[in-house]
Amino acid sequence: MAIILTSVEEGRAELLRRIGDARHIAAFTGAGISTESGIPDFRSKNTAWTRNPPIPFNEFMASETTRMESWRRKFAMDDSMKDVAPNIGHYAIARLVADDRIHAVITQNIDGLHEASGVPFDKIIELHGNGTYAKCLGCGVRHELSAVRRKFEASNRAPTCLCGGVIKTATIAFGQSMPEKEMQRAHAATLQCDLMLAIGSSLVVYPAAGFPVLAKENGADLIIINREETALDSIADVIIRAGIGEVLEPFAQRDRLN
Ligand code: NAD
Repeated sequence: MAIILTSVEEGRAELLRRIGDARHIAAFTGAGISTESGIPDFRSKNTAWTRNPPIPFNEFMASETTRMESWRRKFAMDDSMKDVAPNIGHYAIARLVADDRIHAVITQNIDGLHEASGVPFDKIIELHGNGTYAKCLGCGVRHELSAVRRKFEASNRAPTCLCGGVIKTATIAFGQSMPEKEMQRAHAATLQCDLMLAIGSSLVVYPAAGFPVLAKENGADLIIINREETALDSIADVIIRAGIGEVLEPFAQRDRLN
C-alpha cells in the first residue's frame, strides 16, 4: 500500500529522507513538470493542444497537405509558447543532478526544458524526441525551425531536405517507432536505479510508462509526484499529491539540501 501525502511539508520531508537514503536515482518526467512554465499538458481541457492536436505519423507521411497542416499547428503552438523557460521543478532536478543524486533524467517531454535548466545533455533521455528542432527523415540531418519556417512561409509548401527527404520536427509522433538508443539508455538507467521519481505524468502513455513499472519489478522504490491520480498509483511506494513546484522548491537550492 502506497503512502499518500497531500501535505506539501510532509511530501518534502519524505522526499528528502528517501533521496538521502538512495544510491542511484532516476527521474522520469512528463508534461506536468512543464505546466508551471506555461506549456499545457494533454489532460487539461481547452488548451492550445486542443486547438492544434499533434498529427499521427502515418497521416503526416501520407500527404503533403497534412504535412503543411502539421507545420501550421507546430508554428501556432510555438507562437503561443514563445517565452517559455524552465521552472522550479526543472531547476530542482538540475540541482539534484549536479549534486550527483539523480543519475539520469528520462523524459517524455519534447520541450527541451531539462537541458535549458542546466542538466547535462548526456544525463537526459528524451523518449519522445525534441520539438525545438527538426530532422530529415531520409538522411537524418538536423534542420533549425527558424529556417524551416522561413521556407514554409515563403513557398507555402512542406519543406524538404536537400537530399529530397521529408523534414519533420525531431519528435516521436503517435505511431512512429520509439528511438532505439534512447530506449536502451532508459532501460539501463531504470535497471540501475534504486529509486525512481515519477514527476508530472499520468503514466498512461506506453512504452514510456513501462519504465516505472520495470523499476518496481527490479526492486527499486517508486515515488510519484502528481497532483492527480495516475495509472501506476497502485504500485507506488509513496505518492505526493501536490503541485510539483511547491514540493520541489527546497531541492532547487543547494544549501537547503545539506
Ligand atoms: P499527461 O498530460 O498525460 O499528464 C500530466 C500529469 O501531470 C497530469 O496527471 C496532471 O494532473 C499532472 N500535472 C500537471 N501539472 C502539474 C503540476 N504543476 N503539479 C503536479 N502535477 C501536475 O502527460 P504525460 O504523462 O507526459 O503524457 C503526455 C504525452 O504528451 C507525453 O508523451 C509527452 O511527450 C507529450 N506532451 C509533452 C509536453 C511537453 O513537452 N511539455 C506537453 C504536452 C504533452
